[in-house]
Amino acid sequence: MEHVFYAELAEKSVKREIIPDELCLEILSSPRVELLRLLDAAYQVRQKHYGNEVQLHIINNAQNGGCPEDCHYCTQAKSSTTGIETYPVKAESEILDEAQRAYESGAYRYCMVFAGRGPSNSRIERLAELIKTIKSQFPIQVCLSAGLINREGVDILKEAGLDRLNHNLNTSEKHYPNVCTTHTYSDRMDTLKAAREVGVELCSGLIVGMGENSGDLIEVAKTLRELRVSSIPVNFLLPFEGNVFSAAPDINPDYCLRVICLFRLLNSDAEIRVAAGRELHLRSMEVMALYPANSLFIDGYLNAKGASRSRTLKMIQDAGFTIKADKSLEHLLERETERGESLSILNQDNAMKNLNELRPSFRAGNIPGESDGL
Ligand code: SF4
Repeated sequence: MEHVFYAELAEKSVKREIIPDELCLEILSSPRVELLRLLDAAYQVRQKHYGNEVQLHIINNAQNGGCPEDCHYCTQAKSSTTGIETYPVKAESEILDEAQRAYESGAYRYCMVFAGRGPSNSRIERLAELIKTIKSQFPIQVCLSAGLINREGVDILKEAGLDRLNHNLNTSEKHYPNVCTTHTYSDRMDTLKAAREVGVELCSGLIVGMGENSGDLIEVAKTLRELRVSSIPVNFLLPFEGNVFSAAPDINPDYCLRVICLFRLLNSDAEIRVAAGRELHLRSMEVMALYPANSLFIDGYLNAKGASRSRTLKMIQDAGFTIKADKSLEHLLERETERGESLSILNQDNAMKNLNELRPSFRAGNIPGESDGL
């Protein structure tokens, strides 16, 4: 494609013009669309809305496991035999302590996640009290993920100060029955519509690598666009033995970056977050995701570890980006050094080879001869 193609693509995206499905398909899979130029086009759009800032999110698994639903990608599902550490809802003091630590770690947003189909009325009331307390104690944005909620429930949470409600669409309507059988795509849509009617910001994303095709991904991107979703976490399937979806998906860094670019171009002013699976599936291309995306998780995901905080912060700094927080990136990195984390990461990256690695034949009992002086 000529240079002008990429410039027009960025321009159309900024004007919120829709991209036809055929072109979306090319973006995802045609070698005619060059990855570096595509990243640059998506970066122009990202820069227009977010400059070079990165928003850091910390996710808190406020309750783990025991979910009656059967989402095939989820370690907390009733269908999963992954053997995760389950626990009931954490005490309020524990959640508040974690909110404080998130704030001190430079997180712009604190995301609380509760497993389950959806909260009861009494849990909604307790969540509302918790949100009020967090908002009164820390200057941090609060996002909640608690399953299916009706309009009355979202209204109570909004009154309490909830900034955003997360409820991922995950995949297209057509593919949804292959991903979950205990609730439907329209159940999920109803929750998103209820939140939108009440005026709470929406956070809704997807998981790439669940057997969907490119058309499914395009449909999700366009549906989120119609819903005017403020925040889109783009997850890449983490395969865990014991989940229904336990096989590693056949996706590579090139494809993952194209997906993130597509979501940016179709949702120009949305916060696009590279979420779970970024380390596993983007591999050495991880930093390139910062060009289309403007948001990351630090401290890992729900049940999966991610890159260390210091490694993520250093990646942002090395690429010349800044963070949206009332603390500087430099301050946070110094803090990590004080905690000893930076040092351990440097040691890990520059680790000396041990004897096993230096003399594999020797270890195998194959004694090498005398040095010939070379
Ligand atoms: S409803 Fe949520 S916690 Fe339950 S299985 Fe689905 S994704 Fe997991």
